Amino acid sequence: MNRVRCLVLNAALGPLDYRVPHGSDAPLGSVVVAPLGPRRLGGVVWEDESFGAPEPVGDNRLRNLFEVVPVPPIRAPLRRLVEWTSDYYLAPPGSVLRMVLPGAAFADARRPIVEYRATGERPARMTPQRTVALEKIGARQGIVRELAALGEVSEAVIRGLVQTGALEAVSVSADQPYPEPDSAFAPPDLSSEQAAAARQLRDAVAARGFETLLLDGVTGSGKTEVYMEAIAAAIDAGRQALVLLPEIALTEPMLTRFAARFGCEPVAWHSGLRSVERRRAWHAIASGEAKIVVGARSALFLPYANLGVIVVDEAHETSFKQEDGVHYHARDVAVMRGHFEQVPVVLASATPALESLQMAESGIYAKIDLPSRYGGAQMPTIETIDLTEEKPPQGMWLAQRLVDGIEARLERGEQSLLFLNRRGYAPLTLCRNCGFRYQCPNCSAWLVEHRFTSRLACHHCGHEAPAPKSCTECGEPDCLVACGPGVERIADEVAERLPQARVFVATSDTLNSPGRAAEFIAAVEAREVDVIVGTQLVTKGFHFPELTLVGVVDADLGLEGGDLRAGERTYQQVAQVAGRAGRGSKPGEVLLQTRHPDAPVIAALAAGDRDAFYSAETEMRREAGAPPFGRWASIIISSEDDAEAREAANRIGAFRPDVAECMILGPAPAPMALLRGRYRYRFLINARRSVQLQQVIRRWLAAIDHPPGVRVAVDIDPYSFV
Ligand SMILES: [Zn+2]
Ligand SMILES: [Zn+2]
Repeated sequence: MNRVRCLVLNAALGPLDYRVPHGSDAPLGSVVVAPLGPRRLGGVVWEDESFGAPEPVGDNRLRNLFEVVPVPPIRAPLRRLVEWTSDYYLAPPGSVLRMVLPGAAFADARRPIVEYRATGERPARMTPQRTVALEKIGARQGIVRELAALGEVSEAVIRGLVQTGALEAVSVSADQPYPEPDSAFAPPDLSSEQAAAARQLRDAVAARGFETLLLDGVTGSGKTEVYMEAIAAAIDAGRQALVLLPEIALTEPMLTRFAARFGCEPVAWHSGLRSVERRRAWHAIASGEAKIVVGARSALFLPYANLGVIVVDEAHETSFKQEDGVHYHARDVAVMRGHFEQVPVVLASATPALESLQMAESGIYAKIDLPSRYGGAQMPTIETIDLTEEKPPQGMWLAQRLVDGIEARLERGEQSLLFLNRRGYAPLTLCRNCGFRYQCPNCSAWLVEHRFTSRLACHHCGHEAPAPKSCTECGEPDCLVACGPGVERIADEVAERLPQARVFVATSDTLNSPGRAAEFIAAVEAREVDVIVGTQLVTKGFHFPELTLVGVVDADLGLEGGDLRAGERTYQQVAQVAGRAGRGSKPGEVLLQTRHPDAPVIAALAAGDRDAFYSAETEMRREAGAPPFGRWASIIISSEDDAEAREAANRIGAFRPDVAECMILGPAPAPMALLRGRYRYRFLINARRSVQLQQVIRRWLAAIDHPPGVRVAVDIDPYSFV
């Protein structure tokens, strides 16, 4: 009898045994649909000896597989990656497999999908909901669920609009071929420095072996053009290339740059895709037809038929760390995927993570330097403004010198960028009369005022409420005071002090889709914007030649509430945003507003002395036993019931293992003691590299049961310490 072991898409289950129906064949890696109780469940045929080789189920208890899905089998290197990821991050293998096999994998790509779009006809009976939905949907099309999300209405409203004829059905094929990228379409004009770097990358791709290459180039050095040559080499060899980007907002401009280089847009993969696009992309990736894939971190687990190179762009970005579900770091998993696939991995950054630099220093990664800007552009000059001496006017946040700098740019027709990593108008709102502070009901966090939408919002759970006209505590009217600045308030200040300036606020609130990001870029390039006020979103990727002044509104902000990477993150953010200045022929200037001009990070930034910063930071980490010299893990125990969470944490604490060179702190209330309605307690574990950290934690937690309302989340190599 033909029997197989399958890993199924269920986080609670290990591998299960099934019978292959007579007449079918299910070799290793086959994608299958299997029965589980009354349900149908996707899965993959797996090696018997994986996951601790559980005892086989007796022949008499085997159930038949429903179906072997007609897609290419999941190859061994990807099966090994699923096992490694599950093992390293202590995540259920079924959850990791879900990233390999999203719903799109099981949808028949040959069957057309019915989408809907507006006809321009107004329904006979117009309701406010219908008006808003049609307005928000505009010219876009999608399935009912997607249009409901776009229009922010229920699916019933969308179906109603279909019935009235305001929306019409369109049949869309998910089976159209993608255009073929052409490696010789528009080869770049590389500097000699770039050409040497590109040659090294091309050689690595041609060698068809695993190697990690750290492409360390200053901002504006043309890293993208260089790594595109590695991609060209992969295409020439008939293989696929994967480029990981940290932010979905960056995808659209990147697609355009790829189209200019290779003659057609690459295949995109991110959470903003329509379901027909996901289906088409997944199948083209699995068949090998998609040659260049540009995507968010989730693109890392897709089943490439014939991968030739992986590029991680802006590899230092902390957004590569997934903060829910499987807590993986895409940069680290990319290196592991390169190892299993035996292909080179390129980590590109102007401000590499300390961990990556350390690997290069110890010779494990190859390091390729691009020390100068492309086309003779100079690095910007950086100066600090000591806010304790150059005080902004009462109730304002920008020193006069910075405002003068913006005004000078306005007169010359150049552009300025003000950076403040705080969305909204003000981070805290309180009542002048009774002192009440507006706090999120679900989180230990202040509500942030957003004046564009006249709402108070929590940036952790999404809770929103209209800004009250009178205090909800004491009833006093018009007594709410905004404390501190957010980007909206800075934009207001610029408008007040320089009324002639055209100001654009660039945050995840305003650039919340690839289309909006593209509009923003077009407006800046057409010089319809004089001053950009933005959050960390504007620190990366953008290239605006007329932007010659960058003002950092509060360089000290990232250092507050310092976690282990606060210094590094501040350095990276400020260096990246400074790198937006003077990328064309005109020189750039950067002004850092600070209260601590002598703090090591600020001093290193002002002196442009990256090495000084990194060596001080390295020493500090070495002393603290922090990564890359030691390891951290966190365990968060949460429940909607505070007492239940605390008891569970204490129970785990009672079983704490005593392991040499492994320090366990806690349990203590987490810094965010309440998050999304759940009470949270935390253990922090700091261990020497020699400790088998995962094994220690796995054994510790395995012995302890919890009530169903308790969640225990382990984060290996955490980036978030809230
Ligand atoms: Zn009050
Ligand atoms: Zn909240």
